[in-house]
Amino acid sequence: MSTAEILDTTEEPLEPAKIRRLEASLRGSLLQPGTVAYEAARRVHNAMIDRRPSLIVRCAGVSDVVHAVHFARENELLVAVRGGGHNVAGTAVCDGGIMIDLSQLKGIRVDPADRTIRADAGVRWGELDHEAQAFGLGTTGGAVSTTGIAGLTLGGGLGVLMRKHGLACDNVLSIDVVTADGVFLTASAAENVDLFWALRGGGGNFGVATAFEYRLHPVGTVLGGLVLYPWDRARDMFAFYRDFTATAPDELTAYAALVTSPEGVRLSAIFACYAGSLAVGEAVLRPLREFGPPMADLICPMPYVDLQKTFDPTAPPGLLNYWKSSFLQELSADATDQMIAAYATAPSSLTSIVVEHLGGAVSRVGEGETAFNHRTRPYAATAASLWRDVTQSEANITWTRRLWDAICPATGDAVYANYLSGDEGELRVRAAYGSNYERLVSVKNTYDPTNVFRMNHNIKPSVEVTLG
Ligand SMILES: Cc1cc2nc3c(=O)[nH]c(=O)nc-3n(C[C@H](O)[C@H](O)[C@H](O)COP(=O)(O)OP(=O)(O)OC[C@H]3O[C@@H](n4cnc5c(N)ncnc54)[C@H](O)[C@@H]3O)c2cc1C
Repeated sequence: MSTAEILDTTEEPLEPAKIRRLEASLRGSLLQPGTVAYEAARRVHNAMIDRRPSLIVRCAGVSDVVHAVHFARENELLVAVRGGGHNVAGTAVCDGGIMIDLSQLKGIRVDPADRTIRADAGVRWGELDHEAQAFGLGTTGGAVSTTGIAGLTLGGGLGVLMRKHGLACDNVLSIDVVTADGVFLTASAAENVDLFWALRGGGGNFGVATAFEYRLHPVGTVLGGLVLYPWDRARDMFAFYRDFTATAPDELTAYAALVTSPEGVRLSAIFACYAGSLAVGEAVLRPLREFGPPMADLICPMPYVDLQKTFDPTAPPGLLNYWKSSFLQELSADATDQMIAAYATAPSSLTSIVVEHLGGAVSRVGEGETAFNHRTRPYAATAASLWRDVTQSEANITWTRRLWDAICPATGDAVYANYLSGDEGELRVRAAYGSNYERLVSVKNTYDPTNVFRMNHNIKPSVEVTLG
């Protein structure tokens, strides 16, 4: 089911008395159209998304989630679940129906002795990193500090610690969930193990996650930052990056990118994080800093929590976003040549093409061990089109699609669910779950047989259920 199909819903208007009863059952607030709070709450990171839920339940705790799920079931409402609101597909918000908004759930507790952290589902990566770093600890999280922990972790979770410590989902110890029946469960390696498997890569298909517990690792000062090269070295930069990453130790995660400076100058760039001994890191990163030579070398020792904010200025909320992405088996010169040729004609200077290097600890987990499937693909390539002016939407979307059509033969069909746009169609969604799709359908049949949670990259249940 594509997001476009999901949005095609017709609902009877809700009786005011029912709405009042829902409101009275909440510790948090019920937001309705026509209020300033509602207008703010329905906005998500991607300004392309402009949807109006009938109701927004701004949850203050698990009880509110349970009430919201029961209310949605009783009234057959479309349900959207919002964590950090960052997903470019905009599935955190629906037209009509009910948005279960977890953004105010901000509790975080670090257990420094056990090296674990428990965080509520409204926490963003910058908030989690801030608390963990107070104890010299950290875990794999997204590269922009305003991204929600919930959606990112449920989809897998790529980040600069992944080659050393695995994906965000690989560090999850337990997840609290409210299921489609309004039942509260904890999923872990010891309880509800099939659900725990599915939640680590299967996205928001199985219930509303209310809290996450992660394993932490010692992470203090890292050696990292950006190195910028002239545009005319882009081809050499990719060739260098291919060799550099082929022999990278697990402590090193490096991304390559085509970007445009604030002055409008096209550049090629490599972003690196070495999370290990600084002396060893200096030696490992030396070739990167000598290649070129670079136009600017911003690599230095810095707290991990600061490195994690490097890209925040490039991804402010409120820009129009359209992304295309694929996992790559290899970073062929053919694919990178296509990227360079296309980037030279990108309609927006805010757009970037980014290649992330996976492997390491990510690839040492089996493809069937968690729902996140594509563990043997060492690279993910993403064209992240960003622009400000809505009249430029068609030009930017067309450019992004053309680029991906051109490089598709080189990339294959494997894709990261969290990087899918909303219009990609069912085959691409299936490709995101890869060989785990059938098992995910079976878990969906158990926990959400009527597909209450379908505002996502949807795994359709295959069971026939009689409603009522
Ligand atoms: C600027 C930017 C940078 C990014 N960088 C990275 C990166 O470095 N690494 C990476 O892996 N990804 C990255 N992403 C992608 C990111 O993982 C997804 O956008 C992810 O969905 C964001 O999570 P969220 O909670 O903010 O999303 P939301 O938009 O709130 O939610 C997206 C979907 O996740 C599900 N969901 C969210 N919360 C819950 C919950 N509590 N319970 C059940 N389902 C829920 C729902 O289906 C929802 O529709 C980035 C995205 C952006 C825009």
